[in-house]
Amino acid sequence: MQTIPLTIASTGAEWLLANGTVFPFTVARLDVLHPVISGNKWFKLKYNLQKAISEHKQGILTMGGAYSNHLCATAFACFEQDLSSIGIIRGEIKEPLNTTLAFCKAHGMQLIPVSRAEYDSNSAAVNQIKQQNDHFSFVPEGGNNSEGLRGCTEILSAIDDAHSYTHILCAMGTGTTFKGIAAAAKPHQTVIGIPVLKIKAAEQQQFLQQHAATTTAAATTVLFEFAGAGYARTTQEQFNFMNLFYTKTGIPTDIVYTGKLMQAAVTLAEQHYFPQDSSVLLIHSGGLQGNNSLPAGTLLF
Ligand SMILES: *Cc1c(COP(=O)(O)O)cnc(C)c1O
Repeated sequence: MQTIPLTIASTGAEWLLANGTVFPFTVARLDVLHPVISGNKWFKLKYNLQKAISEHKQGILTMGGAYSNHLCATAFACFEQDLSSIGIIRGEIKEPLNTTLAFCKAHGMQLIPVSRAEYDSNSAAVNQIKQQNDHFSFVPEGGNNSEGLRGCTEILSAIDDAHSYTHILCAMGTGTTFKGIAAAAKPHQTVIGIPVLKIKAAEQQQFLQQHAATTTAAATTVLFEFAGAGYARTTQEQFNFMNLFYTKTGIPTDIVYTGKLMQAAVTLAEQHYFPQDSSVLLIHSGGLQGNNSLPAGTLLF
């Protein structure tokens, strides 16, 4: 298995703006690394897998929601590496399993539900599961640890000519991917993070402090206004945009992260946010398996 993707394909595309000018951009296609596994999750797992193997652990114990891209990636990566995996699932596990959890189970992941109230990497319930499975290496939700960050610093070097862009945009969940990209960006580049969680105005300063990136880039910026209806919440307007984006570019996006990222990029271009002669790289971090939760026919792809 190709646990460590070496090259990421890019797709050039353009968008006709309301004023008749064209916004050209490039999409780094982490979504095509694997049909199910979310692109950035490979990078976050790389050093976590190495750690589990070098410490002779039986496998990886991690956690996530019932639609988590990270759980799918962990189950699959462990399966391929002959490691065991355990997923602590937020809330109850509904039968029949949804496609995400069915995929995890089919790849050997043991699923343990933990109530929403106790769903925290340091709660008593989770600590007990950790103790009972101390021969497993624990990876926090979303692969958000120092090994995950280290893997994300390698994303840019896997993209052809990544240094040639002036602006690099990515979606932000835990922000590990953003931090990794910022750490590897060049001094002429601006890295822009688009949170997909709604952050209240009063909490934005704290969010920025928590996500302050050690960076070699010219600037890092977080733009809060594109979270739409909030984390994993969708609207018909978003589906319409995702369908339009697919029709115009041939690129499918996911409902949680990359649909919002692409919409943010197009909106920014409409607002003439990017100076003339900018070259814009959008990180398609994958996540398409999450679209399986939608009623058939919602999306064109
Ligand atoms: C997990 C995920 C993200 C968020 O990455 P973070 O490093 O947690 O910010 C973005 N896009 C997709 C498709 C994901 O699965």
